[in-house]
Amino acid sequence: MELVFLGTGAGLPSKTRNVSAVALNMTQEINEVWLFDCGEATQHQILHTNLKPRKITKIFITHLHGDHIYGLPGFLSSRSFQSGENQPLCIYGPIGIKEFVESTLRLSQTNLTYPITIKEITEDGNLFETNEMIVETKKLQHGIDSYGYRIKEKDKPGELLVDKLKQIGIPPGPIYQQIKENEITTLDNGSIIYRNDVLGPAKKGKVISILGDTRYSIDHIPFIKFSDILVHESTFTQDKELLAFEYNHSTNVQAAKLAKEANINKLYLTHVSSRYQAEDIDSIIEEARKIFPSTWLANDFSVYEI
Ligand code: ZN
Repeated sequence: MELVFLGTGAGLPSKTRNVSAVALNMTQEINEVWLFDCGEATQHQILHTNLKPRKITKIFITHLHGDHIYGLPGFLSSRSFQSGENQPLCIYGPIGIKEFVESTLRLSQTNLTYPITIKEITEDGNLFETNEMIVETKKLQHGIDSYGYRIKEKDKPGELLVDKLKQIGIPPGPIYQQIKENEITTLDNGSIIYRNDVLGPAKKGKVISILGDTRYSIDHIPFIKFSDILVHESTFTQDKELLAFEYNHSTNVQAAKLAKEANINKLYLTHVSSRYQAEDIDSIIEEARKIFPSTWLANDFSVYEI
């Protein structure tokens, strides 16, 4: 599982930072990629990565500001020609996302070669659950409906304790698979094996929280608490805290504070204002690390293994 940052700039693109988009690549785990926001030219950014548009099965829109959604029509349209035929796609987002997607496709007479479903978020809480994942949402504070997504990978059963199995006289073979897949297995000699007796500890699923644009608020702590990863906007630096509040955004230090208060494992800052240049990056990170040492600032095409 990895996070691939496709656009890490705030508001408008710069030469080094495109507008918002980040992909959660779960090709290895569930053969899917989930995209969070789709700023203009996200499809161009994808061309520079090994992500396959047809593998993008879900797109989560945090809010309807243009720098987070203007890339959608182009991406959806191109996906039809990138082996996306008949590969269904679901879009989640605030009320209005359905109208935005449907009208742009209709007015441009775009016919997709695959089915899309658009689900608008109307309340906080459970968004959906699959065999492997649970996704929850929470409304943030951005002047316009802006959501955070909490992606929880379900715990996986532990590994078979091969030494233990050998000890009790069961040599390796297809029987191991059978034991792993069934709660109770009866061997040819009549003895009964309980799976729980021969499995190691369950593997804890990862929790990834990706928040849309927002002001800092302690109300967000319970939602993101104990996440392995927090992706948080960092539009401004500490000296611009007032500006951040006025524009419904956060500073690097506020994001770090939140990560600390919520016992996050790793914080990735993104959504950096174009007022900051390459030479400012180190100090943006340093300021945040004083509060929360496990902080990184994502650049376009940064890839982080989870
Ligand atoms: Zn915004």
